[in-house]
Amino acid sequence: MSKIKVAELFYSIQGEGRYMGVPSVFLRTFGCNFKCEGFGMPEGKKTDEYLKVDPTLYKSYKDLPLVSTGCDSYASWDPRFKHLSPVLDSDAIAVAINEMLPHKKWKDEHLVITGGEPLLGWQKAYPDLLSHRLMLGLKEVTFETNGTQELSKEFGKFLTNSFAYDEVTFSVSPKLSVSGERWEEAIRPEIVREYEKIGYTYLKFVVATDEDADEAEKAVHAYQNAGFNGPVYLMPVGGVESVYHLNNRKVAELAMKKGWRYSDRLQVPLFKNEWGT
Ligand code: SF4
Repeated sequence: MSKIKVAELFYSIQGEGRYMGVPSVFLRTFGCNFKCEGFGMPEGKKTDEYLKVDPTLYKSYKDLPLVSTGCDSYASWDPRFKHLSPVLDSDAIAVAINEMLPHKKWKDEHLVITGGEPLLGWQKAYPDLLSHRLMLGLKEVTFETNGTQELSKEFGKFLTNSFAYDEVTFSVSPKLSVSGERWEEAIRPEIVREYEKIGYTYLKFVVATDEDADEAEKAVHAYQNAGFNGPVYLMPVGGVESVYHLNNRKVAELAMKKGWRYSDRLQVPLFKNEWGT
């Protein structure tokens, strides 16, 4: 039976993108190919805020402090926190999910597979989980990805055979320079173009300023030149309320100006972006 290192598994409201407001089960896998240490920092600077969190003091995600700079889910990839993420087989995950569903079976809820970066090695394990008898009523699944990981042929085939095109969503959040990651590694149009052949795919850029939105536009052109044809969202920087409130209106206006969609991050005003929301 396939196993996944699970950083978090919880039931909440999807706060971002296409399914904003939909009751959703979140499976957060452990591991990421990026660190995004630039979020919320002056240009060219990297945060060390998460490095000051002492992993030995925490026994569960719920107790971890939030950070206002860098990646807001740092514990889902920083190896110092790996003791908080158990390796679970598909049966244990499916049973735990079933327990969370309000009707003990899938109805209108959707599944979000997020990270970290959920399309790293775990692609091999998802078919086993998604075919589990307790997952059979599941109609819609979203992969929240940074858009840098190729889909394996086998996994692409599995998704195509198991779901209708519109039931699979790739919510791609490409990392701009505000993240601290390098363009050559973060902007991979040819990979995202392949997702688009398998399921509904959109780009969601996390931005704060006009310059970020202009850089997003440059990236959108690169994706479109490779054949990408899906919608584009702008979403405000801000894993904590004070930063989010500084940005949300401005980012909504930037989205209108560019003719793109605005994505909120409802988990911030609703739940203060606490772990498990
Ligand atoms: S890609 Fe996502 S999970 Fe990975 S470090 Fe960046 S923000 Fe965090």
